[in-house]
Amino acid sequence: MPQYVYRFSEGSKDQKDLLGGKGANLAEMTKLGLPVPPGFTITTEACRAYMRDGHVPPELRVEVTMAVREIEDTIGRRLGDFHEPLLVSVRSGAKFSMPGMMETVLNIGLNDASVKGLAEFSGDERFAWDSYRRLIQMFGKTVLGIDGEHFAHTLDEKKRTAGAATDIDLTAEDLKELVAEFKAIVQEDAGREFPQHPREQLDMAIEAVFDSWNTERARLYRRRERIPNDLGTAVNVVTMVFGNLGDTSGTGVCFTRDPSTGHSGIYGDYLANAQGEDVVAGIRNTLPLAELETLDKKSYDDLRQAMRRLETHYRDLCDIEFTIERGKLWMLQTRVGKRTAAAAFRIATQLVDEHLITMDEAISRCTGAQLSQLLFPQFDGEAERHLLTKAMPASPGAAVGEIVLDNAQAIERTSAGAKVILVRRETNPDDLAGMIVADGILTARGGKTSHAAVVARGMGKCAVVGAEELDVDRVSGEVRINGTVLHAGDTIAIDGSSGEVFLGEVPVVDSPVMIYISSGLEAGLAAAEDEATKELVHAIDRVLGHADDVRRMRVRANADTAEDARRARDRGAEGIGLCRTEHQFLGDRRVYIEHVVLAEDDEARLAALEELLPLQRTDFVELLDAMDSLPTTIRLIDPPLHEFLPDLTELAVKVALAKERGQVEERDVKLLAAVQRMHEQNPMLGLRGVRLGLKIPGLFALQIRAIAEATVELRKAGKNPLPEIMVPLVGSMRELQIVREEAVRILAEVGAAAGVTLDLPIGCMIELPRAALTAHRIAEEADFFSFGTNDLTQTTWGFSRDDVEGAFFADYLENGVLTISPFETLDADGVGALVVSGVTGGRSTKPHLHMGVCGEHGGDPESIHFFHDAGLDYVSCSPFRVPIARLEAGRAAA
Ligand code: ADP
Ligand code: MG
Ligand code: MG
Repeated sequence: MPQYVYRFSEGSKDQKDLLGGKGANLAEMTKLGLPVPPGFTITTEACRAYMRDGHVPPELRVEVTMAVREIEDTIGRRLGDFHEPLLVSVRSGAKFSMPGMMETVLNIGLNDASVKGLAEFSGDERFAWDSYRRLIQMFGKTVLGIDGEHFAHTLDEKKRTAGAATDIDLTAEDLKELVAEFKAIVQEDAGREFPQHPREQLDMAIEAVFDSWNTERARLYRRRERIPNDLGTAVNVVTMVFGNLGDTSGTGVCFTRDPSTGHSGIYGDYLANAQGEDVVAGIRNTLPLAELETLDKKSYDDLRQAMRRLETHYRDLCDIEFTIERGKLWMLQTRVGKRTAAAAFRIATQLVDEHLITMDEAISRCTGAQLSQLLFPQFDGEAERHLLTKAMPASPGAAVGEIVLDNAQAIERTSAGAKVILVRRETNPDDLAGMIVADGILTARGGKTSHAAVVARGMGKCAVVGAEELDVDRVSGEVRINGTVLHAGDTIAIDGSSGEVFLGEVPVVDSPVMIYISSGLEAGLAAAEDEATKELVHAIDRVLGHADDVRRMRVRANADTAEDARRARDRGAEGIGLCRTEHQFLGDRRVYIEHVVLAEDDEARLAALEELLPLQRTDFVELLDAMDSLPTTIRLIDPPLHEFLPDLTELAVKVALAKERGQVEERDVKLLAAVQRMHEQNPMLGLRGVRLGLKIPGLFALQIRAIAEATVELRKAGKNPLPEIMVPLVGSMRELQIVREEAVRILAEVGAAAGVTLDLPIGCMIELPRAALTAHRIAEEADFFSFGTNDLTQTTWGFSRDDVEGAFFADYLENGVLTISPFETLDADGVGALVVSGVTGGRSTKPHLHMGVCGEHGGDPESIHFFHDAGLDYVSCSPFRVPIARLEAGRAAA
């Protein structure tokens, strides 16, 4: 039989799964000898049993009785007693904090009789009736489901008729009347009496806390924060202590150090003669905590002492809820405090300097996600700006552009070179075309899992959603925000990190952290405007430096041009994991591809390819020069050739029109025939990658020769180019074998002509399930593997990324099929299993086979940890994410 109830003296901070965060920390504080009111925690297991069976386990009732009696005996007061009643609070507390999501009820145990006992025993009638009205109010709202507005409204009315400025000005008589009115509301709205029996109150409150786990908003919150739905919440029953017992009492919240800079000091708020939520509810103005020293020196000193105790014990910034009852301090809650991204780095290094944690611990406390927030460009804080509204920040970044209201406008304006912000009430899959070309997205509806938010994050595009004050009128073409009327073409600026929307142009600048990453410490410090930002830059330098020291995986970048390569190198990339060569066939060079496609015989085709050779060689010379001495993986051409040819429909129309005029060109007719011939229903699964290389003789040979000649040229110039040749979309060992034989021949030929040995590594992408499953065979022909997790995700799920992401991912997230897009974070169970199979297979043939990943997952924090565990040698990601990958690879190894 499981134990459903734990006394505070029994638990510890490591039992968050069972006792929830609040319960585990109350137990820990009790163990530390801090003044925690007596109490106990009902486990999450009891909640799970309740959710499964539809009623609380019978044993729970018995265990609660025993635990309550123990408290009663310890402090010599009884629940519901007419003279000296014991009161308790019933508080929710899940493993992960879900602020404001779940319920707490204070003052359980008061009824028409015990309220008089409380008045007598405390000597404060006003206080007793204030506590009672709070109980009915909270119980009515959270347990009986009555609209809180009814109570709030009646309270306001009472204050008005009594001429009371705030709630503490209400007299005992006022409060007695209020209690009667509140009871009437309960009778009216809930159709039952306010329960007088304390144990009934207690049991109902416990069940209400269990139920609060499954409210709509709690489920929504968990979906957003990716917290599993089946954990359940614990319930804490805590002896009430009273901050509302006059001026020598009060309640407050504090931090053990400044939550934004990490500096130690006195940070918090205090409110005299108040209970519970009053501090945060903003009912009256709070005092800065430091002023408590003059009000009540003893409690203040005790609190300082407790703060130091906690910080030493947790070795981290803690936040604390406390109450003072007639000059006696009580601790009601603590936890390791939430913090901003910047604060995470500052606090971690600050604690290292105080010798409270090691550098390994410091990097475990600073995440790649936090670092990435600090890297986004930001609006120039100095610039003048006109705030229109503030909504939900859904996808970070800063974007400025003209308002466009639909796809057509978006495409028209961007083709004319404008930057645009797509403004919609909400988006749906039909808006995808507009979203793709827009610089930013702004919607009036929807939250962080709305279509706009999900798709924008997937595209790495700045988005602000749920701007309630925004009115998008498609009929009149007007956009109204808080009295300002705008039209398509007007400029706005949106901040995806803060949710702010500005009118007109706002200049965008690199963040000081970004400047530090790309140009070094000196430059970063120079860009920092204040002391706090300088400290931040220093902190990041130390944290990243340590991550670089401890990580096992190398970090490379995906870069196609010499310019991108240099940028990646500046940011700490240790090579290129993926250079796509398709850009080398675009622009002016499209005509050569036309020649290749239209060639009537082998000779003509080879001649056409020959024209491309010098161009490609120059590209590779520049790239390899930029990456001198660092490994550079060059992928042979991957996309279907028709992607480089004119669009089928456009060309067909052109030819038809020309025919009508009787001036059709022979070349266009041929080209149209070729395009028709090459048209594919499903190009993603069609003639591309290695298939193309085998089908069109000379195509891969051209690229390999260009790489070989570029290498020779650079070596002659005394450089150290380190190219690696990578074959895409391999599914069978034989495919790679054929390409490899040809490559070896070309390398030997070019090498012989130049009098050097060219044994460049030749490897392949593992991006098809079949490749992952037959990796032991493929490894016979490969010098390295690079996992292409984008294609591997598409082919494992059977998802065509471009088609499905905007179409139904928002629904899939909503109904829980997915918790996050598998294109954002690697699907460890499915795609990850294939990666592991590829690694194991490859290394069973060649124990030291070099392996990396070059899909977008290479820059995703969670996926990076997976790749570390899987044993990969490196990750490769976009240059922007290189610092994030460095940090996460370090965290994975530390
Ligand atoms: P939340 O998780 O929303 O912070 P809590 O369970 O911490 O909810 O409780 C809400 C408020 O009630 C807090 O300010 C807390 O300090 C106060 N509170 C809870 N239990 C007691 C108690 N036994 N005595 C006095 N105040 C309490
Ligand atoms: Mg709390
Ligand atoms: Mg691919």
